[in-house]
Amino acid sequence: MGSRLSRIRRISGSLAVCLLGGSLLLAVPALAEPDSLPVIQEEEAAAVQTKQYAERKDLFLKVEMLTGIPWYRLAAVDQYERVLGVAQKRKPRPGSLTSIHYTEAEWAGPLNPDPNDRNLRSIAVFQGKGRDGSGDGLADRTNDLDVLMATAQFLLRYGTADEDWNIGVWEYYQNSRSVERIEQFAKLYETFGKLDLGMHAFPLPLKSTYSYKGTWGASRGWGGHRIHEGTDLFAGYGVPARSTVYGVIEEKGWNPYGGWRIGIRDLNGIYYYYAHLSGFDKRQKVGDVVKPGQTLGWVGSSGYGKPGTSGKFPPHLHFGMYRDYGMADWPFDPYPHLRKWEREERGRAK
Ligand SMILES: [Zn+2]
Repeated sequence: MGSRLSRIRRISGSLAVCLLGGSLLLAVPALAEPDSLPVIQEEEAAAVQTKQYAERKDLFLKVEMLTGIPWYRLAAVDQYERVLGVAQKRKPRPGSLTSIHYTEAEWAGPLNPDPNDRNLRSIAVFQGKGRDGSGDGLADRTNDLDVLMATAQFLLRYGTADEDWNIGVWEYYQNSRSVERIEQFAKLYETFGKLDLGMHAFPLPLKSTYSYKGTWGASRGWGGHRIHEGTDLFAGYGVPARSTVYGVIEEKGWNPYGGWRIGIRDLNGIYYYYAHLSGFDKRQKVGDVVKPGQTLGWVGSSGYGKPGTSGKFPPHLHFGMYRDYGMADWPFDPYPHLRKWEREERGRAK
């Protein structure tokens, strides 16, 4: 089921082909820019977040010491739960550092007469998942260390070697997409050694000459009535197409519609699709990590035919964004995000 649905994105992503040129762009009212907080509030929010990242990493290091599971794998599971929580509109528990979540029945055991049971022995009798990680002898569903320990104990049943770990993750989620996502997240945390990986860059160098408009949902002007799933950034041949995020290369190669195309997955499970490139940076391969601003390839006009076909439309970067809903990816409008990253990058350059 997962693999069938995941193909929906692969197919629709590959069909996310482009309008033929500026003249065909439909007049769509400009979208409102995302709200930005006043500078002082923004700085305060950033400071709170920095502190939270430090405390969270500390927590993972503690559990690593207790269990032998590397911190970046615990961080990956926790982040995956955060992404799932957003998709499922689950409210985060106030004051908690982890997004891993257990219901009362899962924690205490489904037949446990006391849903708030914290006693390790009776939880074990009723086959609850609750554990003690803080060392106070109690399994507290609202204690971050206890919650992380419960998850770690489950995953540890299979061992910590790469293969065994993936089997544990599979048993936990019963979904191959979850295994893939958690592997990607762990690789990002391990490579960069930190949790604070939310920075974005604009996909083209700000100094280059480019133009783009919000044309979400405009039907494409070429051989069909599909909805245009992305933003076309018009620029000259050879302008670098850059990663907008800290992410992992998930797809790379030729596709009949997208031409030379590359797909990057970030820590929010968002998939970034770059199409019609003239070529790639050949040092990068599927599974490699990239960071914001890193060159992935160059703007071109490849696509609409057999490998190597190009020049059937003006050179541009087709940029698409897809949200991971657990079982499939669905497209959303990149335009407001592009505007925001462009503004942020300009601010950083000052
Ligand atoms: Zn396009």
